[in-house]
Amino acid sequence: MKSELFINGEWVAAQSGEMIDVINPATEEIFHRVASAGADDVNAAVQAAKNAFDTGPWANMNGMERAVILRKIAAEIEARTDELARLEVLDNGKPFPEAQWDMEDTAGCFSFYANLAEELHNAPDEEIALGDERFKTHVVKEPVGVVGAIVPWNYPLLMASWKVAPALAAGCTIVLKPSEVTSLTALELGQVAKECGLPDGVLNIVTGYGASAGQPLSEHPDVDKIAFTGSVATGSRVMQSAASDIKNLSLELGGKSPFVIFGDSDLDQAVEWIMFGIFWNQGEVCSATSRVLVEEVIYEKLLARLKEETQKITIGDGMNEGVLLGPIVNKKQYDQVMGYISTGIDEGARLITGGDKPALNKGYFIKPTIFADVDENSTIWREEIFGPVVCIKPFNKESEAIRLANDSEFGLAAAVMSKDSARCERVARAFRAGIVWINCSQPTFVEAPWGGYKKSGIGRELGKWGLENYLETKQITRFDDDSSWGWYLK
Ligand code: NAD
Repeated sequence: MKSELFINGEWVAAQSGEMIDVINPATEEIFHRVASAGADDVNAAVQAAKNAFDTGPWANMNGMERAVILRKIAAEIEARTDELARLEVLDNGKPFPEAQWDMEDTAGCFSFYANLAEELHNAPDEEIALGDERFKTHVVKEPVGVVGAIVPWNYPLLMASWKVAPALAAGCTIVLKPSEVTSLTALELGQVAKECGLPDGVLNIVTGYGASAGQPLSEHPDVDKIAFTGSVATGSRVMQSAASDIKNLSLELGGKSPFVIFGDSDLDQAVEWIMFGIFWNQGEVCSATSRVLVEEVIYEKLLARLKEETQKITIGDGMNEGVLLGPIVNKKQYDQVMGYISTGIDEGARLITGGDKPALNKGYFIKPTIFADVDENSTIWREEIFGPVVCIKPFNKESEAIRLANDSEFGLAAAVMSKDSARCERVARAFRAGIVWINCSQPTFVEAPWGGYKKSGIGRELGKWGLENYLETKQITRFDDDSSWGWYLK
């Protein structure tokens, strides 16, 4: 297990010598420590990235050559899936099969952007037809420069890969700051990149707290772009830090995503997708469908079936066989989720199941929790809980469901279920959200754009949109006529 910072291809201690305890949320035990970077360390990492961008071999490599290294990284992550997945479970708590899935997706992300690096290289420059035929314009794409990537703890390596892979494909250099809560797999990525031949300084990794490492990174004048995933409150602070230099910025923030279920839906399918939408990854998912709207005709029947299936979920240490719900990531988040549960009870929502700790001696475990009859103005209906807590409410009319679904400051994801395909399409288009699922909830594909409306963020990750995030667009316009321009010299 790595513990030092990765700067300019070397493993180095934080200049202050300070460390952060790494705690297993299933046992509450400290099992490791990682360096706590400060502004000086961040500055050294940014200088390494700037130097690598300005003068290093990376800047002179073409997309075909970059793709070779990206594919090596993908292969190495794939080869180390179980080892990396185990680290993720120790750090984050998620069940091992989910962590394995994360690693497959991480490797897939590097492969996908290897392909796009090649496509970018092979694509001819776009020629633009101009109103004045004496001029010719073509458009070239160039890397944006030094990227500061700041990521959260819920999918530690996967969220890092959504930024690192396209940024590398574009030809950028990077300073990655993982969450102070889950740094281990990000550090392993540094080692993997080094072994796969990524030149020194192209990827630098600084572990540390938001205030002491994240903020100096988002304020640093030599960082050209900040790519941030995290909460709305931090996103807003990062935006302010980036404002003084007018940095290029993309934000992937929180959500309170609705799932509208019409009365003609298959009950089993509805129950399974609700469960996947809110209990997968302990509900610590930005796109979790945490507000469920159910047509009145099936409301009580669905609640009964959902309660029955939810109570069968095996809770425990993510490394144990058969576990479907691990612990919450840390004590702070555990307290936050428990706080929302007691607020929900105080606000009069009907607690169908859960709401407390399971009978386990240690660990930040919370039973999967269902609230019904949740008031649309209540705290638990409006705020992101980021835990295994679903809020359910009945509706009668399609228009009412759409109004309730869109009545949120967030707009990350939404889902609809019905056997009527035209209705699904109509509702999907009416949602004010960047990601919409029909007859399912959560499946995420590297090829498709990811990002939110409203307070859920700015910009899109994944797919070709994810690559665009790290590219500047330059027009080159040529005067292509033998005659004189004829303005001053007639
Ligand atoms: P967070 O905002 O607390 O932290 C995110 C990152 O920002 C961490 O690395 C943290 O150290 C850093 N940070 C904190 N203060 C900072 C500052 N002042 N300047 C710069 N960086 C700072 O979020 P979290 O608790 O780690 O993650 C949960 C949140 O992330 C949820 O709101 C969730 O919805 C969101 N999220 C969104 C997506 C998405 O794709 N939209 C994906 C995953 C998580």
